[in-house]
Amino acid sequence: MSTMIAFDNTFARLPGVFYARQDPQPVKAPRLVAWNRDLARILGLPPSAGDDFAEVFSGNRVPEGAEPLAQLYSGHQFGQYNPQLGDGRAILLGEVVGSDGIRRDIQLKGAGRTPYSRMGDGRAWLGPVLREYVVSEAMHALGIPTTRALAAVETGEPVVRERVLPGAVLTRVARSHLRVGTFQIFAARGEVESLKRLTDYAIQRHYPEAEGPMGLLRAVRDAQAELIAAWMSVGFIHGVMNTDNSSISGETIDYGPCAFMDSYHPNTVFSSIDRMGRYAYANQPDIAVWNLAQLATALIQQYEDREAMVEEATEIVHAMPGLMQRAWLRRFAAKLGISAPREEDAGLVTDLLTRMAGNQADFTNTFRALGSGREGDQFTDPSAFSAWAEGWRARLEGEPYPEGVRRAANPAFIPRNHRMEEMIEAAVEGDYAPFNRLVEVLARPYEDQPGAADLQRPPLPEEVVPATFCGT
Ligand code: AMP
Ligand code: MG
Repeated sequence: MSTMIAFDNTFARLPGVFYARQDPQPVKAPRLVAWNRDLARILGLPPSAGDDFAEVFSGNRVPEGAEPLAQLYSGHQFGQYNPQLGDGRAILLGEVVGSDGIRRDIQLKGAGRTPYSRMGDGRAWLGPVLREYVVSEAMHALGIPTTRALAAVETGEPVVRERVLPGAVLTRVARSHLRVGTFQIFAARGEVESLKRLTDYAIQRHYPEAEGPMGLLRAVRDAQAELIAAWMSVGFIHGVMNTDNSSISGETIDYGPCAFMDSYHPNTVFSSIDRMGRYAYANQPDIAVWNLAQLATALIQQYEDREAMVEEATEIVHAMPGLMQRAWLRRFAAKLGISAPREEDAGLVTDLLTRMAGNQADFTNTFRALGSGREGDQFTDPSAFSAWAEGWRARLEGEPYPEGVRRAANPAFIPRNHRMEEMIEAAVEGDYAPFNRLVEVLARPYEDQPGAADLQRPPLPEEVVPATFCGT
């Protein structure tokens, strides 16, 4: 069966300043190791893999209608402006309008060198490919906006990192790959016409109701504020919130050293390169505001009278912490079973979080256990929980919230780090059973799954994975 993809490309219609045409580089012996039926259906692709899928999703055969290109962008990496980044190992094949009416990019990640590869080899190894596959699909199932994974292919070629590892290509699907950094590069270069063109394109594609650059800024702010609050509510740490990894669409993008917390602590950092803790769990809201300020700075370059726009842009950015705080409270109150939060409920939430931090309580399991009578099990000192719970129970009186609703705010399953590492180790040895099982269980994170209790359990001390790697 031949893979027909109904491409309908718009980004490739933009002027060439935004990208470099680039075909994927062929690989030796591609083998399809994962195929996402659910997403395939939305994209109008067959539910089961045909003969040439490995060829297409490794980049060996460019499907009809694809217009492969690498996108140009820049960005602040750990606060430092890097004047040129771009897709160094990702190739956009094109766009497809799904059965849900949503336009999405189909991108191959790890598909070889591009004009923006700098010193890199343009490749990815199997570990990060499977990691992104599992975590992005888990995020989707958690109800959090995210890029998705359509396919994973082993290339049959080694890639050299700290050691020699199996190469792989991920097919990533996103509402677009426009980033804060996509705007920054044209603003920094003073290419105002390109900046205007990009702004119009982003508005049309993502926020058709937005008026002008400031309307776009407002819309991105609202989407990002919701996104970060959602991350916080499941204990997710992105790990590399650089402006080039901050999507205009408000989706989670670029899963590198990301991780979900096991035991709760606000300063938790996993990324081995984040030595200063810039992207620690509790810093994420501040960083999102910082990133939005960079977008604001870029967007105002297209106005004749920039000074006049500074005030409006500043106002828009300054409203973000409040929006995030409200979204945060709504989500955390729901986790406690409170449907209509009052301002003072924030105290109830932070009091619980403080006690959790002091008692090495597992983030996911503590919230999931609420109402079970066994919550204290998560705390080194269970009385720390019971003291808090008195006030909580009092607050819940008269709450019309049914049990099921609270459970729907508190997942049972997250992709725990130690399970991810285990899964990668097995896959490198050719055993995909742990990968397939994780994908299956994490597709229904809010359901009790008695057969999967091992995936709910926090790591034992000897199982803890203290650091994650960009591992590109
Ligand atoms: P990331 O940290 O994955 O967001 O990547 C930052 C930049 O480095 C982006 O421009 C990537 O395209 C580029 N990059 C990362 N890994 C590679 C690689 N193996 N080869 C070429 N470019 C890469
Ligand atoms: Mg990136």
